[in-house]
Amino acid sequence: MDLLEHQGKELFAKAGLPVMAGETAWAPLDAVDAAKRIGLPVVVKAQVKTGGRGKEGGVRRCATIEDALAAATAILAMTIKDRPVEAVLVEEAADIAREMYLSFSLSRADRGPVLVFAREGGVDIESVARRDPTALIRRPIDPLLGLCDYQVRDVLAAAGLPRKSFAGRSLWAVVHAAWRLYLETDATLLEVNPLALTPDGAVVCLDSKVTIDDSALFRHPDFAALAEAAADEREARARRAGLAFVELDGDIGVLGNGAGLVMSTIDQLAVAGGAAADFCDLGGGARAEVVANAVDLVLAADGVKAVLVSIFGGLTRCDEVARGLLRAFSDVGVEVPVIVRLDGTAASAGRKILTEAGLSNLHVAASAPEAVTMAVAAAQGELAPKEAPAATVAGGADVEAG
Ligand code: GDP
Ligand code: MN
Repeated sequence: MDLLEHQGKELFAKAGLPVMAGETAWAPLDAVDAAKRIGLPVVVKAQVKTGGRGKEGGVRRCATIEDALAAATAILAMTIKDRPVEAVLVEEAADIAREMYLSFSLSRADRGPVLVFAREGGVDIESVARRDPTALIRRPIDPLLGLCDYQVRDVLAAAGLPRKSFAGRSLWAVVHAAWRLYLETDATLLEVNPLALTPDGAVVCLDSKVTIDDSALFRHPDFAALAEAAADEREARARRAGLAFVELDGDIGVLGNGAGLVMSTIDQLAVAGGAAADFCDLGGGARAEVVANAVDLVLAADGVKAVLVSIFGGLTRCDEVARGLLRAFSDVGVEVPVIVRLDGTAASAGRKILTEAGLSNLHVAASAPEAVTMAVAAAQGELAPKEAPAATVAGGADVEAG
């Protein structure tokens, strides 16, 4: 779960990390009221879950109330990297003498947490890192020992900001407090960039980027509301329905039972020249209603041109899946071609149910590889609709009407 900057900063403030006074606003006039309470100058900042807001014009310093109104109006209407801005954070503006970088994150390579500190941070941290990788001071943290004080002193000394200097004292406290917060919230990322030094030597966290481990959310009932707000509507629906759902950026919706099957299906699509728009894992033993729900989810991504359903029945019965698919067709309305591969438990019964439904955009493939080929063709508009046997359709309608 990614937190918005203002949510992260609320945690920072509670953990004793220095932040500027600020208020979150969802409408321009509320931002103006906030600016009046906080006092000018203020910085108006886009609240959106992506970095690089500064470079996109999503962070503006405002010297007057008119500026603040104009900035809030413009920023609230912005879309940054495809994400609409949700709110603005209005903060007391800080004077900056130096922008530094601090993060704790979980590193696969180190199999544990790692501390990264840089004397030169800010919006160009990536180019700083490319130009001079040694500018990033990186220290793996033993997960059993935790962050040790000698490491903090060592990092600050390496950065030329020793603990005994004026700024070093505050930095020392900030690094320790950030680590405690990282640990207590089960975060997988806690990044402060910029961690600013003001001209009078004070240290302040001007940005926050916090990711909480989803698997640890059960330990944080206080984050439940945040989790609801964080999940996009479809992820939240999937979670409530007990489905695993992930959005990707291709044009073929993928539905399968079991993570391994779903992953390999996505790979096969890629090999065949297709790309998954999203995928939904039904897990084992899904009933018709769950299947219908999953189809609806998979269809909701932008630009889905075809849906590929791949089921290898074990606990999951293919006839249940088939009934679920038909329910989705009647309840949700499915306009794109749907290609279905059914193997395993009750596969022939399932195929029979689908074939007898006689829907022109529901295609039953004979094998998994054929299904993949058909899905790619369908997404490219090259799969002809089936001839619907008119009698069956009419018959079906009669039965339902009766
Ligand atoms: P990001 O671009 O999404 O990482 O957004 P940041 O919150 O890091 O802001 C981008 C840049 O705006 C920072 O690197 C600062 O240079 C600048 N900035 C942010 N807050 C303040 C502030 O209070 N005062 C000043 N002078 N600059 C700020
Ligand atoms: Mn930043």
